[in-house]
Amino acid sequence: PAAQASWLEVSAASVRHNVAVFRALEATGTPARALGAVLKGNAYGHGLEQVLPLVHPLVDILYFITPQDALAARAFERERGLAPRQVLVLGAISPEEAVALAREGVDAVVADSAWAEAGQVLRAARLQRPLRVHVHIDTGLGREGFTLEQLPRDTGFLADFRDVLEVTGVLSHFANTEDVTEQAYALAQLEAFEAGTARLVEQLALKGPLQRHIAASAASLSLPRARYEALRVGISLYGLWPSPETRLSARLVLGGLPTLKPVLSWRCRSQVVKWLPEGSYVGYGCTYRCPEPTRIAVLPVGYFDGYPRLASGKAHVLVNGRRCPVLGRVMMNHLIVDVTRATADERPLTATLLGHDGAETLPAETLAGWAQTIHYELVTRLGPHLKRVLV
Ligand code: PLP
Repeated sequence: PAAQASWLEVSAASVRHNVAVFRALEATGTPARALGAVLKGNAYGHGLEQVLPLVHPLVDILYFITPQDALAARAFERERGLAPRQVLVLGAISPEEAVALAREGVDAVVADSAWAEAGQVLRAARLQRPLRVHVHIDTGLGREGFTLEQLPRDTGFLADFRDVLEVTGVLSHFANTEDVTEQAYALAQLEAFEAGTARLVEQLALKGPLQRHIAASAASLSLPRARYEALRVGISLYGLWPSPETRLSARLVLGGLPTLKPVLSWRCRSQVVKWLPEGSYVGYGCTYRCPEPTRIAVLPVGYFDGYPRLASGKAHVLVNGRRCPVLGRVMMNHLIVDVTRATADERPLTATLLGHDGAETLPAETLAGWAQTIHYELVTRLGPHLKRVLV
């Protein structure tokens, strides 16, 4: 990588390890369930281009938020001559996009009755096969999907468009599996999911087996009843626990804690290493003054790249296996760190912003915590311009 850049390292071995953790969970249930990888948000900031080839051979379902990403996955399969996986678009789409998905055999999610318009457009397109759709039931997140109150009142149109909309699944999403260890709300959502599914099956006289999916990482790990036919695993595929609470629940439920391996490391080369005399100020606003002569490294990373400015005054990076405090404010394209104790000279050095260095580790949760946010936000906001390299 160029001296001016920072880069993200994506560990293929860690992805494989994390997939194996979820495969082992599935093996505890019958019948064998499908494992789905959530690749939205540029594969949680890890880089879709890097992650898709890694997970494609390992999982059964690929979940995206946009039709563009789903169609890119189909193009990738064609280019490589790979057998097509089940691909599903979780996000809202236009009727024209519905046609494109039907052509490519990609599944879509019906979350409101505006879908009747897509039904008309699909019919007019005279396709050879219907679009496979999964009905989203809002069981308590208050986001997309039909509430129990709307079911079956607002889903009747699906019976009118059977020729173009084939209901093959139902899904929902939990509101509160990460934030608490007690699962009363999640269990109420499961009840609503089963009730909603039953209403839909009756209303549409559905005969074939339905693919039911509600469990994201947290429920997959800590609420076996929620596993049904498919797991929709996002954050933990990338080796991150959804929350400390999930870790606690999973330990109880699984009788031990599986190891997840973080997939991402963020590193850079220093731009400048130099001594500043005692009393020197560092960075905008002169918020830091060196209490003693200090060897600093200027790193080519800033909030433009996704390093949170709110971490100013709290963060450290790792250099030669040692913690080096970030001095003063995080800038748009620069960080200044104290490397006095990490190196004995002014030669260029490599800094780790996330990941392992020697015996030290800097987890995404820690950097997110300094910035008063969660690791989900931190990793998905890593700049798309950063070079992602497979290691
Ligand atoms: N399913 C849906 C509908 C989601 O919105 C998300 C992520 O926000 C996931 C699954 C994956 O969740 P997690 O990253 O916690 O596994």
